[in-house]
Amino acid sequence: MTATQTEFHPLTESVQPVFDTVLARSPHEPEFQQAVHEVLGTISPMLEQHPEYVEAGILERLVEPERQIMFRVPWLDDSGKLQVNRGYRIQFSSVLGPYKGGLRFHPSVNLSIIKFLGFEQIFKNALTGQGIGGAKGGSDFDPHGRSEAEVMRFCQSFMSELYRHLGEHTDVPAGDIGVGGREIGYLFGTYRKITNRHESGMFTGKGTGWGGAEVRTEATGYGAVFFAQEMLAVHNESLAGKRVGISGSGNVAIYAIQKAAQLGATAVTASDSSGYIVDDAGIDLDLLRQLKEVERTRIVEYANRRASARFVEGGSVWDVPVDIAVPSATQNELSLADAEALIANGVRAVSEGANMPCVPEAVAAFQQAGVLFAPGKAANAGGVATSALEMSQNASRQRWTFADSENKLREIMADIHDAAFNAAEKYGVPGDYVAGANIAGFQRVATAMLAQGVI
Ligand code: GLU
Repeated sequence: MTATQTEFHPLTESVQPVFDTVLARSPHEPEFQQAVHEVLGTISPMLEQHPEYVEAGILERLVEPERQIMFRVPWLDDSGKLQVNRGYRIQFSSVLGPYKGGLRFHPSVNLSIIKFLGFEQIFKNALTGQGIGGAKGGSDFDPHGRSEAEVMRFCQSFMSELYRHLGEHTDVPAGDIGVGGREIGYLFGTYRKITNRHESGMFTGKGTGWGGAEVRTEATGYGAVFFAQEMLAVHNESLAGKRVGISGSGNVAIYAIQKAAQLGATAVTASDSSGYIVDDAGIDLDLLRQLKEVERTRIVEYANRRASARFVEGGSVWDVPVDIAVPSATQNELSLADAEALIANGVRAVSEGANMPCVPEAVAAFQQAGVLFAPGKAANAGGVATSALEMSQNASRQRWTFADSENKLREIMADIHDAAFNAAEKYGVPGDYVAGANIAGFQRVATAMLAQGVI
């Protein structure tokens, strides 16, 4: 929570008590407070016309997760030493469908981060229109530097507790930072063994040979670029010939780079915690994938192996002049100073590939400067939307082709864009995709909550 956030989206009288309760109940959860404040601060124009939501206590209920699970994850490292991590699953809302949301394995994971992610997931998932509730989970386990066997043992221990809370009609996890195809394989395998059920629909992001959907791996990055394309199209602009700046070098970043290139733009940056690379010739995707997915090494190696690239240690990737920015690393990675640098360099659109990567002051700066800005819960919803497509395919034992799945993803992203765009127009904040996404997502959830009663 910051002064600017409070100034930019002051809370109205009807929502202030809800926020005060969050502050009192969760005083040490800054990311969760930030995510709640953004929603409460932007939906007021709609609440004024829908007092029934306020009267029914929809907000009071939504900021309190339906269920919070925290558990011990003990495992033995390769030297035989006992390690203990903490596991989480925050089941926020199941009013629209089974709990749905990824698992994050990263040393920074704590209750605040999982709650902010779970809270955002409610509205993101509602925006997809796919009938999925909101949840998030993970652990403070750090897979970096761990052997294959250690990662497997950790996943097995993690799932040996979490399995009892999951199921295709109950809660369906997927990946997030630190949880990719490898981890999902180990987690799914453990669930299958413990429950004696090959229950495809209880996890998404599976391998395509054993129930996984085409395009799920690519979907978040592709979707964020499709969303940028939709925002530009409103102004009769396109991605062709644009320079795209991307942060991160994980799954979201890699496929945002690929889709940007396929649509005629040039993606010129990528980063990790050690620094960033600039490649004016356009990122060589095969090389980046080799380094990050196969060798699991540092990004400096990219510059060592490619003449057109340079590596910058530390510093900010957002100092590089670009037309479109797709922050795809992690929460609060893009500061006000970064936003000011991007604006000074003439950035036209920002599409958040990660969850909440721009600090509130940066969002305010983009919006005040007239930069097209798409919040993560709309722009990166393609991942979870394609997870829902995977669940449909599992339930009907069908397999869609890559082309069909990608077309469906493109349609869903266009629908999400239109829902956010139209809600912003309708409630007097045209062009404000943050407010539009929050309002459109909230209304779908609130309508279902009203219909299902106080439960
Ligand atoms: N972790 C992703 C997200 O932030 C995907 C969740 C899913 O597919 O369930 O939306």
